Amino acid sequence: MSKTWRPATQLVHGGTLRSQYGEMSEAIYLTQGFVYDTSEAAEARFKGETEGFIYARYGSPTNDMFEKRMCALEGAEDARATASGMAAVTAAILCQLKAGDHIVAARALFGSCRWVVETLAPKYGIECTLVDGRHLENWEKAITKKTKVFFLESPTNPTLEIVDIAGVAKLANQIGAKVVVDNVFATPLFQKPLELGAHIVVYSATKHIDGQGRCLGGVVLSDKEWINENLHDYFRHTGPAMSPFNAWTLLKGIETLPLRVAQQTKNASKIADFLAEQKQVARVIYPGRKDHPQADIIAKQMSGGSTLVCFELKGGKEAAFALQNALGVVTISNNLGDTRSLITHPATTTHKNLSEEARAELGISAGTVRLSAGIEDTDDLIEDFAQALSKVKS
Ligand SMILES: *Cc1c(COP(=O)(O)O)cnc(C)c1O
Repeated sequence: MSKTWRPATQLVHGGTLRSQYGEMSEAIYLTQGFVYDTSEAAEARFKGETEGFIYARYGSPTNDMFEKRMCALEGAEDARATASGMAAVTAAILCQLKAGDHIVAARALFGSCRWVVETLAPKYGIECTLVDGRHLENWEKAITKKTKVFFLESPTNPTLEIVDIAGVAKLANQIGAKVVVDNVFATPLFQKPLELGAHIVVYSATKHIDGQGRCLGGVVLSDKEWINENLHDYFRHTGPAMSPFNAWTLLKGIETLPLRVAQQTKNASKIADFLAEQKQVARVIYPGRKDHPQADIIAKQMSGGSTLVCFELKGGKEAAFALQNALGVVTISNNLGDTRSLITHPATTTHKNLSEEARAELGISAGTVRLSAGIEDTDDLIEDFAQALSKVKS
């Protein structure tokens, strides 16, 4: 592996660990444990005097390849692959906190992430303040003497709000706190939170990294010191490890990540521009458009638009349902980052557990729709939206 390889090369070759058979494609090591030639070898392995695997809950060869490939892409020193994105988020937050500590998080979070900081953490005496993350002064005002972690997503789900990652990192460094960024919506290609000053990055690999709807997975990335001091023991003893089979599936997924994300972003951008011209549409939110309310921060921290588009129909829920039901190529599903274009109505699905007031704070109305652009032909998608919108009253 070479440090100078560009992402597309890292994603095909990074971390490859070949067995004595010289297999071309990565091998799947479906083993729970490992054997030792002698008692002395086992003793040395357990003492950490020799390198090698001990138990699949701690690490295993296929997972190691996935972790190393993700590190190469992210520019991180170390990583741990987890069974799901939520296992990654929960581990990254809980492993470094104790009762009495305080989290400041953006209120616009993936539903389960919000549950972890708002409901789960307080059960263990870890308090959390949720803020409107778009404005740095809100992060600053929420700081207490006990603040240890800042947690954010950017762009957010579903309304694609932006948080100034470098700004939050600066605040965190002033008080010795850590910034955890859930970078799913930006993808590892378009935003590098560690370069912007964040300390820990998490992904749901279920999304763009697999990108083909096959399996769940997650990953936590950071520097070696933070992983050794915080995540290492937590990960070993609580067991959120990824299955080696899923690690293999994700290794295959990640090889084509740049190709898929490029086509998805092209489709998202064309569809956003098309929707912005339609009389049934009240507004379009897309990070690649100049009319995004936070275009200035986007220019500072993202190198590409997004594979997601959020838009609002004038006709509310009735119009949103009519549009979704009339689409032929685009499928109704709450997943995202897939090869298929997927559409969802947040108010009745992913964000149904929030109060109407909390949804309004996040800019989610009855007419809000989220599209995750797939890799289909752009013109087929535009034609699909045109025919479906013709059935929607304006
Ligand atoms: C999907 C998602 C998660 C959770 O990931 P799973 O793999 O479903 O557990 C967390 N954060 C964001 C932003 C997501 O989109």
